[in-house]
Amino acid sequence: MRVAFFGAEGKAGSAIVQRLESAGHEVRGIELGDEPDVGGCDAAVDFTTPEAAPANVRAALEQGVSCVVGTTGWDPAKLGALAAEKGLRLFVAPNFSTGAVLMMRFAREAAAHFPRAEIVELHNEAKKDAPSGTAKATAGLIGGEPAIHSVRLPGLVAHQEVIFGGEGQLLTIRHDTTGRESFADGVLLALEKLDSLPPGLTVGLENFLS
Ligand code: NAP
Repeated sequence: MRVAFFGAEGKAGSAIVQRLESAGHEVRGIELGDEPDVGGCDAAVDFTTPEAAPANVRAALEQGVSCVVGTTGWDPAKLGALAAEKGLRLFVAPNFSTGAVLMMRFAREAAAHFPRAEIVELHNEAKKDAPSGTAKATAGLIGGEPAIHSVRLPGLVAHQEVIFGGEGQLLTIRHDTTGRESFADGVLLALEKLDSLPPGLTVGLENFLS
């Protein structure tokens, strides 16, 4: 596929672009200040900032190109409606790492058996939004508005613990992203399956994991 990539030189972007290219995809990197020209591309990917992503996605949709978005901390609902109007796909995932998606699935299952849970999410200090998109999505799956604790420190990549408390027992479900390459598998999967989605907004990698 020919893929336009907003934020190709960022921390997540550069790791993902490397994997896309070694899987045989042709990548056009678009950085801050570049024209958002996605003409001739089969899909656009965005890993930028919550401020930049809406304009990038709008530009891609206006040019008739479906989008896969990893940027967190923004609301894709309006642009999902624009995508549906144009018969295009807008796929957004708070986490493209398959292990993290499984951690969320297991947490939802555990929530049925424990009265209380709290979430601790830990990310590199450069992460701009808090709580993380993954923590908010996990809280939504667990229900009951669990407390979310956000840690931002150098040395961290992306980590999350969901701690369940019950009478005389604790259950901790933890996922650690130790390298940003982990996001590439999810992005590859989303690009491959993009055309199988209905037009409009789809949220979450779990849509592709049976
Ligand atoms: P980062 O290292 O700061 O990378 C962001 C990149 O986007 C930088 O290269 C930045 O360029 C570029 N950029 C900024 N505005 C732009 C614009 N208007 N058009 C094109 N490029 C632009 O951050 P990161 O750690 O890679 O994370 C990026 C985003 O992805 C964050 O929202 C993060 O939460 C999210 N993320 C999501 C997942 C997931 O699985 N869903 C995984 C990892 C990260 P400059 O440096 O020149 O400003």
